[in-house]
Amino acid sequence: MIIDLHSHSTRSDGKESPTEVFAHAAAASVDVLALTDHDTADGWAEAREAAARASIGFVPGIEVTTRAEVARGQNRKYISVHMLAYLPDPANHELATALSRNVNTRELRAQRMVELLAEDYEISWDSVLAELAHGATIGRPAIADALVSAGYFADRSEVFHGPLSRHSKYYVPTETLDVVRAIELIRAAGGVPIIAHPLGGAPESMSRDDLPEEHFEMLIAAGMAGFEVEHREVPQVARDWLRMLAAKHDLITTGSSDYHGLDGKPNRLGENSTSQEMLQRILVQASGVEPSL
Ligand code: AMP
Ligand code: FE
Ligand code: FE
Ligand code: ZN
Repeated sequence: MIIDLHSHSTRSDGKESPTEVFAHAAAASVDVLALTDHDTADGWAEAREAAARASIGFVPGIEVTTRAEVARGQNRKYISVHMLAYLPDPANHELATALSRNVNTRELRAQRMVELLAEDYEISWDSVLAELAHGATIGRPAIADALVSAGYFADRSEVFHGPLSRHSKYYVPTETLDVVRAIELIRAAGGVPIIAHPLGGAPESMSRDDLPEEHFEMLIAAGMAGFEVEHREVPQVARDWLRMLAAKHDLITTGSSDYHGLDGKPNRLGENSTSQEMLQRILVQASGVEPSL
C-alpha cells in the first residue's frame, strides 16, 4: 500500500495538471495521493475526478506558507515554515482570507525579485506570468521557468542554485502568516496541520543541538499534529530525533514525495510513503472536508 501525502500541480508550482498528476500516480502504483498545492485548494475538484478515474484514493490538502520568529543568540530572525493542512474546510472564512493574503504577498515578493533580476537578465513580469496557469499560486519556480525559457539556464534546479538561491542578491524573503496562527486557523477549519519537510535542507553534519526542540514543542502546544519525517530533504540524521519527538508527544509521522512533475523537480511519486495507521490518525482528527478513499 503506497500512501503519498504531498504533491503539487499547475495550480501552484507543479508542472502537471491535477489530472496528469493522478494519472502518473496510478502508473507509479500509488494507492492514495494527497494534492497539496501552495496556499490553494483550487486543484481539489479536478483531483477528485482524476483520482476516481484512476481508481486511487484522494486526500485534499494545502501546503500553507508560514514563517516563524526564532531566537539566534541575541538576535531574532524569521525562518520559512511550510505547514501541510490535511482536509480543512476550504470555505472556512478565516482560513480562506489568510490563504488569499498569502497568495497576494507571494505575488508582490515575486514582482520585487523580478525587478531585481531585470537589472541583469532579460526578464519581465509578463514572461513570468506566461509560465503560470491562470490563477496558479506564484513562487520562485515560475521565475525559474522564465529564466530557463529565456535560455539562461538548463532547468529549474540550476536557477535555484544560482540567482534564486536564498543567498543571492536577487532573493527577497516572503512575509507570510505566522506559523502558530496558521496552526490555529487550520484546526479551526477542521484540518490537520503537519509540518512539511522539517529541517529540510539542513546539512547531514547537523548535531542534536541544532534540533530546535523547544520551537517544535511550542508548535505542538499550538496544535500541530505531526511531522513529515520521510522526505528527501529531511537529513537522515534528523529523522530518528523527529521520530523520538513524535513518540514522546504521541504525534503523527508521515512520508511523502513532494512531487512537482516529472520535469519540475527530481522527486518521484511514491518515493516515500505514509503508513495506513498514520493516515487513519489523520482522518480521525479531520472534520473539514471528506477524502475520497
Ligand atoms: P518560494 O515558495 O517562492 O520561496 O519557492 C520555493 C519553492 O521552490 C518550493 O516549494 C519548491 O517547490 C521549489 N524549489 C525549491 N528548490 C528547487 C529546486 N532545486 N528545483 C526546483 N524547484 C525548487
Ligand atoms: Fe513547491
Ligand atoms: Fe514545501
Ligand atoms: Zn511541497
